[in-house]
Amino acid sequence: MPAKLLEGKSVALKIKENIRAEIETLKSKYGFGPKLVSVQVGENSASEIYIKSQEKTARDLGIDYELKKIAADIKQDELIKAIELLNKGKSVNGIIIQMPLPQHIDAKLISRYISPLKDIEAVHPQNMGEIIFGTAKVLPCTAAACMELLNSVPELELYGKEAVVVGHSEIVGKPLALLLLNKFVTTTVCHIATGKRGTLPEFVKKAEILIVAVGKAGLVKGDWIKEGAIVIDVGINRVEGKIVGDVEFDRAAEKASYITPVPGGVGPLTVTILMRNVVEAFKQQA
Ligand code: NAD
Repeated sequence: MPAKLLEGKSVALKIKENIRAEIETLKSKYGFGPKLVSVQVGENSASEIYIKSQEKTARDLGIDYELKKIAADIKQDELIKAIELLNKGKSVNGIIIQMPLPQHIDAKLISRYISPLKDIEAVHPQNMGEIIFGTAKVLPCTAAACMELLNSVPELELYGKEAVVVGHSEIVGKPLALLLLNKFVTTTVCHIATGKRGTLPEFVKKAEILIVAVGKAGLVKGDWIKEGAIVIDVGINRVEGKIVGDVEFDRAAEKASYITPVPGGVGPLTVTILMRNVVEAFKQQA
C-alpha cells in the first residue's frame, strides 16, 4: 500500500492540546469555562453513540456538558421555546440539536432558532452565509475536519489544486466545497444526479483531491483514483458488522498518495472540531 494514512486521531491530538490551553486561559480570566448543551428529542440509537462521544470529549477537555432530553411528541413551537430559553441562558455557550428529529419537526426551521452565537454546528443560515464571505468563526464540524486533514499533509499546497467533492449535503458537501473555494481550489461537486448520469468515474479520475461523503459502501471504485491523489472518505457504512467508507479502500490505497482509513479518519476529528467551536462561541460571547 503506497498511500500514507491520514489518521484523524493524531490531528485531533494537536487540536485538543490547543483547546485545553485555551480553556485554562479562559477559566483563569473569567472564573468559569465553556458549557455545551445537547438537545435530544426522542430516542435514537445512532445519536446515542454521538452523544456519548461528545460527552466524553467535552469532559476530557474541561467543557461542561449537559444533555437535555425532550419527549419525542413535543410540539414544534414548544421545542422552539425550549431553544429560545437556552439562547437566553447565561451559562450556555453552545447548543447542539441532535439529528434526526422526529418527523413532525422541521429540522431546517429549528436551525433558524438557535442563536447564531451559540450555533456550534454552524447550521444557522447566518453562519452558513459567513462561510461564503470567508469570515466564519465556527465551521460545520465534518467539513472543517476534512480541511484539517488536508492541512496535515505536509507538502500540500491547496492553491490551484483540482478537487472533486462527491455528495452535496448541507452539513458536509456544500460547506466543504465553499471552504475549498476559499482556498482557491478548483472544485467540482458531484451528487446523485452525477451518479445517475453515469459520469461520476470521469470526474473522480481527474481529482487531485477527492472527498467522498455519500453513505454508499464501495460507491467509488479504487481504479477510478488518480495516481497520487489525496483521498478523504467521509462515508460511514455498516457492512456485515464492519464499518466501511464509500471508497474501495484497498485498491484506492495502491493509487493514492494519502488516504483516510474508515473508521479512524474523519470521524475522530469531527467531535474535536465541535469542541473547538464551543470555545470559539465562548470567546464570542465573553
Ligand atoms: P446525505 O445523506 O445528506 O447526502 C448524501 C449525498 O450523496 C447527497 O448529496 C446525494 O446527492 C449524494 N449521492 C447519493 N447517491 C449518489 C451517487 N450514486 N453518486 C453520487 N452522489 C450520490 O449525506 P451526509 O449527511 O453528508 O452523509 C454522507 C456520509 O457521511 C454518510 O455515510 C454519513 O454517515 C457520513 N458522515 C460522517 C461523518 C463523520 O464525522 N465521519 C459526519 C457526517 C456524515
